[in-house]
Amino acid sequence: MARTTNPVCKMCRREGRKLYLKGARCESDKCSVMRRNKSPGMHADKRTKLSEYGTRLREKQKLKRFYGLLDRQFLRNFDLASRTRGNTGEQLLSLMERRMDNVVYRMGWAGSRAAARQLVVHGHFSLNGKHVDIPSLLVKPGDVVSVKSRERSLSLVRKLAEVVGRKDAPPYLEAQGSESDPLQCRMTRLPSRTDVDPRLEDQGPLREQLIIEFCSR
Ligand code: SF4
Repeated sequence: MARTTNPVCKMCRREGRKLYLKGARCESDKCSVMRRNKSPGMHADKRTKLSEYGTRLREKQKLKRFYGLLDRQFLRNFDLASRTRGNTGEQLLSLMERRMDNVVYRMGWAGSRAAARQLVVHGHFSLNGKHVDIPSLLVKPGDVVSVKSRERSLSLVRKLAEVVGRKDAPPYLEAQGSESDPLQCRMTRLPSRTDVDPRLEDQGPLREQLIIEFCSR
């Protein structure tokens, strides 16, 4: 399964904003965007105003990198969103939120989407009681995502969740199990535009129309 191996802080600096790709470090003073908010590369200072193409490209890269996708995976999602009834931008964001690795991250079982992806790949979760190891799998309303009931998975996820700190589940996910230690969740409905991770828009709104224009060229 392909994944990006680029230096992640460089991606944030390229987008000129935090993308929260490194878990706890992103909240600390060590964050590269906080220390030197400058585009990477020796000619970064010489870059002039963005062209129309550049503006659309940056918006697409921002969304793609925030959810940890590669170009091919992103375009596959865009294709699916454009074939689904309704607003393509909203459908695209809904698809991003429905990814298995995103559900694990939003439940607070991992500090970053990359960590969540690794947990899924290593088989620590099940979907409706069945083994899953595909981070891009789309969770549907009614599906139940659980931490595997074996000791190794339970202790690992508990330890990570403790580091992350208790997070409230997003409105489209219902935490199940004990209140202080939920190790299972159910998707109650499809995520809507307002359910998108608030961190995506904490430094300005996402202009999904520009992404549609870029991908429909
Ligand atoms: Fe690095 Fe996280 Fe800061 Fe991005 S937000 S620059 S990934 S520490």
